[in-house]
Amino acid sequence: MKAEQVIEIFKTTGALLEGHFVLSSGLHSTAYLQCALVLQFPQQAEQLGRAIAENFSGRGIQLVASPAIGGIVIGHEVARALGARFVWTERDGGEMILRRGFAVSPGERTLVVEDVITTGGSTRETIAALERAGAKVLAAASIIDRSSGGADVGVPRVALATLAVPSVEPSACEACSRGEQAIKPGSRKQ
Ligand SMILES: [Zn+2]
Repeated sequence: MKAEQVIEIFKTTGALLEGHFVLSSGLHSTAYLQCALVLQFPQQAEQLGRAIAENFSGRGIQLVASPAIGGIVIGHEVARALGARFVWTERDGGEMILRRGFAVSPGERTLVVEDVITTGGSTRETIAALERAGAKVLAAASIIDRSSGGADVGVPRVALATLAVPSVEPSACEACSRGEQAIKPGSRKQ
């Protein structure tokens, strides 16, 4: 799947909006990305999962692991496409760990999948949790890369599309300086 096709799916499902937005951080941006809005559609999730999986066919991936909550839907679809098992990590007192009785075989060939990589932090924490459990993490993947390719997670990494969306303080926002009202995404009544 080409990056343009991925972006198109995000736009048609409302997962990528263009305009003038207040993000949850309080910063302003000309684009708003919410992967859950594309992943709410199982057919699109399956399509994106298959596209990620294509990068890893023939690599003998036995296990796909994702950080909860954002990574679960797409990780599950990648695992389905690869015929692999799927588990997720979650935070317990700030630490990313495997819970719920999820176990890993020694040397189990593992791919870590996220919906969007921004700094790579949660992917790195998930890789560490899997390695502590004995897995061999071969690579990482995400649908969207917001790091402009810069996030280093310590293993080879692929993304279906790269998105550079700068966010700025309201005082430095061009749209604000033109007097345009910023929208808080998700607050709009249907
Ligand atoms: Zn603004």
